[in-house]
Amino acid sequence: MEKRVLILGSTGSIGRAAAEVCRSLGERVRVVGLAALRSWELLAEQAAEFRPPAVALVDEAAARQLRQRGCGGAAVLSGPESLVELVNRAEADLVLAAIVGAAGLPATLAAVERGLTVGLANKEPLVVAGALLVPIAQRSGATLIPVDSEHSAIFQCLQGNRRADVKRVHLTASGGPFRTWPIERMEQATLADALRHPVWSMGPKITIDSATMMNKALEIVEAHHLFGLDADQIDVLIHPESIVHSMVEYLDGSTMAQLGVPDMKTPIQYAMTYPARCNGITQPLAWESIRALHFEAPDRARFPAINLGYEAARRGGTAGAVLNAANEAAVDRFRNGRLAFGQIARVSGELLARHAFRAQPTLEELLAADAWARREVEECVAC
Ligand code: NAD
Ligand code: MG
Repeated sequence: MEKRVLILGSTGSIGRAAAEVCRSLGERVRVVGLAALRSWELLAEQAAEFRPPAVALVDEAAARQLRQRGCGGAAVLSGPESLVELVNRAEADLVLAAIVGAAGLPATLAAVERGLTVGLANKEPLVVAGALLVPIAQRSGATLIPVDSEHSAIFQCLQGNRRADVKRVHLTASGGPFRTWPIERMEQATLADALRHPVWSMGPKITIDSATMMNKALEIVEAHHLFGLDADQIDVLIHPESIVHSMVEYLDGSTMAQLGVPDMKTPIQYAMTYPARCNGITQPLAWESIRALHFEAPDRARFPAINLGYEAARRGGTAGAVLNAANEAAVDRFRNGRLAFGQIARVSGELLARHAFRAQPTLEELLAADAWARREVEECVAC
């Protein structure tokens, strides 16, 4: 049966991989909407290929260019509200949330409120507001299908088992470009160093998050919300080969793992075809050429971000929103050459420690905590 798919963030790394998956799935999917920030030329190409009835661009000037060029007959929505509008008007069986950052929260929330099935690559909205999003999904009947590779692995390993029988999960991490670097060298790592990921090819923000391992911190909070796990049920393991995408350990001592080549098209396709599986474009593992799989505990002294993820998952409330926003703002400053690499986790930790914590925040309070953390990072003179 044909699935109608709406791709938010279609011009990014995940969005482009999703387009490839749609192309390969052919008649099994129909793209009913595409959205991005400002890359109008690529959006025009995608619209010409997939012929969705509507597209959205947040940036007004880019949207004007797109309208002038013509967009394969698609209506072009624009402005800051356009993504929510697209979600609310689209007839979609799956909304693929692939925007980067907390900016994806309003559209994800709109999809969840509508009770739609959401393929979640965009982890930051869950980190900010998972305590609100998950109960809303339960009430509206929305299904959240993780696309983040570790969480997709856990989701797959949970199929056919009882949640109550889970002892803990092991989130694997490649360790990023600085896995073996001494701390002094990491402190002053350049943007080019941080963008040189050994395994995954991804957008710049998550690539830097992998270098600090803040990505794993965000994923701890993500797993906590998605699977209802306590922080101490979530273990992090460095696995440089990135072949075991994560594992679920059950009460009886059995551990289920999901393995595959490191390619986001696998979890994207799984979200699109779930609960079925179809022929994929990802190569299967070549078992004979795998000599060894390595696992080790992360070095918390060199990667202090990991502790922050545990702290945010444990404290709940506004902690996730502050950690995420502080990190987004610190990563922006690092990318602009205005912050040393080592400061990203340090500043995020300081703000997490000294923010005005609220245990049961409303959405407005979460957004206020997010805005406060961004301001603090931006105005930080000592940084
Ligand atoms: P990216 O930077 O390559 O792409 C981001 C997309 O979002 C683009 O289409 C861009 O136009 C759009 N966008 C950015 N800011 C926006 C805004 N303010 N409003 C509307 N649209 C906006 O990022 P990516 O690497 O594709 O990552 C997307 C999300 O998926 C992130 O949350 C990331 O953590 C997650 N993720 C990515 C990967 C990966 O392999 N790239 C793996 C796991 C999880
Ligand atoms: Mg991941």
